[in-house]
Amino acid sequence: MSDYKKMWADLGLNLQAHDALLSVLGKAYQDIYLAQKNRPAGMGYFDFVMSEVHGLRIKELLDEKAAGRKVIGSYCVFVPEEIALAGNATLVGLCSGADFATEEVEKLLPRNTCSLIKSSFGFKLGKVCPYLECSDMIVGENTCDGKKKAYETLKTLVPNLYVMDLPQVKSAEGRALLKAEYFRFKAAVENLTGVRIDADKLRKSIAIVNNKRKAIHRLMSLRKADPAPISGLDALLANQVFFYDNPARFTESVNKICDELETRIERKEGVFPKKTPRILISGCPMAVPNWKLPWIIETSGAVIVGEESCVGERGTRNLTADSGSTANELTEAIVDRYFKIDCAIFTPNPDRMNHIAEMAETYKADGVIHYGLQFCQPYLMEAIPVEKALESKNIPTLRIDSDYSMEDLGQLKTRVEAFVELLR
Ligand code: SF4
Ligand code: SF4
Repeated sequence: MSDYKKMWADLGLNLQAHDALLSVLGKAYQDIYLAQKNRPAGMGYFDFVMSEVHGLRIKELLDEKAAGRKVIGSYCVFVPEEIALAGNATLVGLCSGADFATEEVEKLLPRNTCSLIKSSFGFKLGKVCPYLECSDMIVGENTCDGKKKAYETLKTLVPNLYVMDLPQVKSAEGRALLKAEYFRFKAAVENLTGVRIDADKLRKSIAIVNNKRKAIHRLMSLRKADPAPISGLDALLANQVFFYDNPARFTESVNKICDELETRIERKEGVFPKKTPRILISGCPMAVPNWKLPWIIETSGAVIVGEESCVGERGTRNLTADSGSTANELTEAIVDRYFKIDCAIFTPNPDRMNHIAEMAETYKADGVIHYGLQFCQPYLMEAIPVEKALESKNIPTLRIDSDYSMEDLGQLKTRVEAFVELLR
């Protein structure tokens, strides 16, 4: 990492704590990512992005801000990037994938809160996230109970929190709520940036975000091959970087990797030998640097071929229609696209059940590992019917509950190894 200390200090980061975070992150990346074999050469781009995730990318965002753009931070895939971009703002994901300042966090949140929510507080309280500190607006959303109550407290920690209400039922009333909230968000973005969002700007931003999604769809599709041309860890990384990178550069870099993977497939080359047991991961999102479970799986003799997750196919699968001719019509198309997201906060949620089985078939998965964060009621509750539905289709399923600590590493490894053995 180059010397960005002044930039971090100007953002108000705690340099000592931030150095500690970067050193843990660097070591984990080395041990988990760089230790992999047979990686596509194109992953070099993502290695570079990760080595500069708090450096060059932050500098770029600050340069954008100096040139008049705004930065909006988000914790959820329901925050529509198309609207942010059309209003001359850059949307960044606020990762929340590691424990930080836990003691401080537990003064504000109950201990039995999921790691994701705790992490979002820890990064703020520990002053270690430059994305959070350079955001002109931070969007929270009323999804699960944990998040919506936590935002009441987060509001006292950040001056610029905007809370978006979200439906919990896929009904006409639910869609009407999402639509009202997206129009309210559009007005809030216009207010923040001073830019009027018109049809032309929306059409361009829809194209940019759709292109990013199409590149990921292409990558996903190549993972159907056996041997798998890319590891699940590397594909997860691309899905994670989706939330930070410059969209056009991201699209180009993923497409380059896909070109390389096509050649690999033609030559029947892969990251693991042919007939390696293939796993689909389903459940809670895995934000950077939450790589624990994929790492365990891929060092236990299996390969991950898909992620039914918001950092994965649940987040990227649908495109936004661009045929509307007015700003209202295009915003309606955005509402239609996002209303299909089958997060476990919805009740009932049959689409997710169907999608998991469909993904298992499409990616020729031998089994599914359902990943639930401890204390995440929506996903842990839904894990049981998911397991039943998959097993009724003879798809072996393993339910894992975990958190961000490394305490359960040995126990998880034993369970995953036994599951992989069963798949053989
Ligand atoms: S799991 Fe639900 S709450 Fe979490 S990012 Fe996805 S849509 Fe948002
Ligand atoms: S992991 Fe579960 S409990 Fe945690 S924020 Fe997401 S939906 Fe809420």
